[in-house]
Amino acid sequence: MRDTGVFRPVDEFGRFVIPKELRRMIGIVDSKDSVEMYLIGDNLYCKRKDPESDSICMVRKVDALGRIVIPKEILRTLKYDVSSDHFHILIDDDKIVLVKLARSCIFCGDMNGLLEFHGRMICKRCREKLKTIL
Ligand SMILES: [Zn+2]
Repeated sequence: MRDTGVFRPVDEFGRFVIPKELRRMIGIVDSKDSVEMYLIGDNLYCKRKDPESDSICMVRKVDALGRIVIPKEILRTLKYDVSSDHFHILIDDDKIVLVKLARSCIFCGDMNGLLEFHGRMICKRCREKLKTIL
Protein backbone atom coordinates (compact mmCIF):
# COMPACT_ATOMS: atom_id res chain seq x y z
CA MET A 1 0.00 0.00 0.00
CA ARG A 2 1.21 3.45 -0.88
CA ASP A 3 0.69 6.56 1.24
CA THR A 4 -0.70 9.55 -0.65
CA GLY A 5 -0.02 11.90 2.28
CA VAL A 6 -3.56 13.21 1.86
CA PHE A 7 -5.99 13.61 4.75
CA ARG A 8 -9.65 14.51 4.24
CA PRO A 9 -12.62 14.75 6.58
CA VAL A 10 -16.11 13.43 5.99
CA ASP A 11 -18.60 16.29 6.17
CA GLU A 12 -21.73 16.36 8.33
CA PHE A 13 -23.73 14.70 5.51
CA GLY A 14 -21.28 11.81 5.24
CA ARG A 15 -19.82 13.17 2.01
CA PHE A 16 -16.19 12.56 1.20
CA VAL A 17 -14.25 14.22 -1.61
CA ILE A 18 -11.94 11.86 -3.43
CA PRO A 19 -9.02 14.05 -4.56
CA LYS A 20 -9.07 14.71 -8.30
CA GLU A 21 -5.72 13.08 -9.05
CA LEU A 22 -6.81 9.92 -7.23
CA ARG A 23 -10.14 9.82 -9.08
CA ARG A 24 -8.18 9.99 -12.31
CA MET A 25 -5.78 7.31 -11.10
CA ILE A 26 -8.52 4.75 -10.47
CA GLY A 27 -10.42 5.77 -13.60
CA ILE A 28 -13.47 7.49 -12.09
CA VAL A 29 -15.50 9.81 -14.31
CA ASP A 30 -17.36 12.38 -12.18
CA SER A 31 -21.17 12.21 -12.16
CA LYS A 32 -21.05 9.06 -14.30
CA ASP A 33 -19.22 6.34 -12.38
CA SER A 34 -19.96 4.71 -9.06
CA VAL A 35 -17.65 3.51 -6.36
CA GLU A 36 -18.03 0.25 -4.50
CA MET A 37 -16.97 0.18 -0.88
CA TYR A 38 -16.09 -2.60 1.46
CA LEU A 39 -14.38 -2.93 4.82
CA ILE A 40 -11.42 -5.15 5.53
CA GLY A 41 -10.74 -4.78 9.22
CA ASP A 42 -10.68 -1.04 9.86
CA ASN A 43 -9.68 -0.18 6.30
CA LEU A 44 -12.35 1.12 3.95
CA TYR A 45 -11.61 0.10 0.36
CA CYS A 46 -13.10 2.15 -2.50
CA LYS A 47 -12.93 0.91 -6.04
CA ARG A 48 -14.46 2.03 -9.31
CA LYS A 49 -17.51 -0.10 -9.97
CA ASP A 50 -17.45 -2.00 -13.22
CA PRO A 51 -20.81 -1.05 -14.81
CA GLU A 52 -21.13 -4.60 -16.18
CA SER A 53 -20.80 -6.35 -12.86
CA ASP A 54 -23.40 -6.92 -10.17
CA SER A 55 -21.71 -5.83 -7.01
CA ILE A 56 -22.69 -7.12 -3.62
CA CYS A 57 -20.74 -4.26 -1.99
CA MET A 58 -22.14 -0.89 -1.04
CA VAL A 59 -22.22 1.20 -4.19
CA ARG A 60 -22.41 4.99 -4.27
CA LYS A 61 -22.51 7.33 -7.25
CA VAL A 62 -19.70 9.88 -7.64
CA ASP A 63 -21.24 13.35 -7.93
CA ALA A 64 -20.12 16.22 -10.18
CA LEU A 65 -17.70 17.44 -7.50
CA GLY A 66 -16.05 14.05 -7.06
CA ARG A 67 -17.84 13.31 -3.82
CA ILE A 68 -19.21 10.03 -2.56
CA VAL A 69 -21.51 9.55 0.38
CA ILE A 70 -20.01 7.10 2.83
CA PRO A 71 -22.90 5.04 4.19
CA LYS A 72 -23.86 5.67 7.82
CA GLU A 73 -23.49 1.96 8.62
CA ILE A 74 -19.84 2.10 7.56
CA LEU A 75 -19.13 5.25 9.60
CA ARG A 76 -20.84 3.65 12.58
CA THR A 77 -18.81 0.43 12.22
CA LEU A 78 -15.61 2.48 12.08
CA LYS A 79 -16.77 4.62 15.05
CA TYR A 80 -16.04 7.61 12.83
CA ASP A 81 -16.74 10.91 14.58
CA VAL A 82 -17.46 13.67 12.01
CA SER A 83 -16.44 16.35 14.50
CA SER A 84 -12.98 15.01 15.28
CA ASP A 85 -11.92 12.34 12.78
CA HIS A 86 -10.72 12.31 9.21
CA PHE A 87 -9.49 9.77 6.69
CA HIS A 88 -5.91 9.16 5.71
CA ILE A 89 -5.85 8.12 2.05
CA LEU A 90 -3.70 5.25 0.82
CA ILE A 91 -3.55 3.56 -2.57
CA ASP A 92 -3.57 -0.18 -3.17
CA ASP A 93 -3.34 -0.91 -6.92
CA ASP A 94 -6.69 0.28 -8.36
CA LYS A 95 -8.24 0.86 -4.94
CA ILE A 96 -8.32 3.83 -2.61
CA VAL A 97 -7.96 2.80 1.01
CA LEU A 98 -9.35 5.06 3.71
CA VAL A 99 -7.98 4.73 7.22
CA LYS A 100 -9.67 6.62 10.05
CA LEU A 101 -7.47 8.94 12.04
CA ALA A 102 -8.31 11.13 14.97
CA ARG A 103 -7.84 14.82 14.23
CA SER A 104 -6.01 15.33 17.49
CA CYS A 105 -2.51 15.00 18.89
CA ILE A 106 -1.55 11.39 19.68
CA PHE A 107 0.27 12.57 22.82
CA CYS A 108 -2.00 15.15 24.42
CA GLY A 109 -5.23 15.17 22.40
CA ASP A 110 -4.89 18.84 21.40
CA MET A 111 -6.61 19.69 18.10
CA ASN A 112 -4.60 22.83 17.27
CA GLY A 113 -1.43 23.26 15.24
CA LEU A 114 -1.35 19.67 14.08
CA LEU A 115 1.16 18.19 11.68
CA GLU A 116 1.07 14.66 10.36
CA PHE A 117 4.00 12.35 10.97
CA HIS A 118 3.91 8.72 9.75
CA GLY A 119 0.13 8.75 9.73
CA ARG A 120 -0.28 10.24 13.22
CA MET A 121 -1.00 13.81 14.28
CA ILE A 122 1.30 15.74 16.60
CA CYS A 123 0.53 19.20 17.95
CA LYS A 124 2.96 22.11 17.98
CA ARG A 125 3.53 21.99 21.73
CA CYS A 126 4.41 18.27 21.69
CA ARG A 127 6.71 18.79 18.68
CA GLU A 128 8.56 21.44 20.70
CA LYS A 129 8.81 19.05 23.66
CA LEU A 130 10.10 16.26 21.41
CA LYS A 131 12.90 18.53 20.21
CA THR A 132 14.18 18.89 23.77
CA ILE A 133 14.67 15.12 24.21
CA LEU A 134 16.64 14.63 20.98
ZN1 LIG B 1 0.22 17.33 21.77
